Amino acid sequence: MTKQLTIALVAHDNRKADMVEWAIFNADMLSKHKLICTGTTGSLIQKAFNEKGVKAEIICMNSGPMGGDAEIAALVVRKQINLAVFLIDDLNAQPHEADIQMLLRQCRIHNVPIACNRYSADLMITSTLWDIEDYSPSEPRYIKFKR
Ligand code: PGA
Repeated sequence: MTKQLTIALVAHDNRKADMVEWAIFNADMLSKHKLICTGTTGSLIQKAFNEKGVKAEIICMNSGPMGGDAEIAALVVRKQINLAVFLIDDLNAQPHEADIQMLLRQCRIHNVPIACNRYSADLMITSTLWDIEDYSPSEPRYIKFKR
């Protein structure tokens, strides 16, 4: 991929091991892009990258429960995120469920690709569409279907 992307990375506590493993596996690719993370996710990825000698631009927002997901949702609204990887803990309730739903909803509304598992994330970051100049994703229309 030649285009530089801004990639949001968020993982709930029980999904952070998977996120860090995924980030290390894809470190070569991710180091070419700008990474915007919730606080703890970002610091764990940064630590793992430091240990492996990987240099990457990682910006940490607040921790998720303290508003990090909301900050990333605001960047989605401003079209400042190209794609998001959001590893949600589907087996445990989260105190910031409202913010989680907001981030998911704003990605849907603004047509931002969001991967909620590693397989989807791998497919997204290896897509050739990123480099196709005359491909532009069509925005959702929210209109009634007319026969
Ligand atoms: P964290 O936030 O990376 O700061 O733990 C993730 C979340 O819970 O949304």
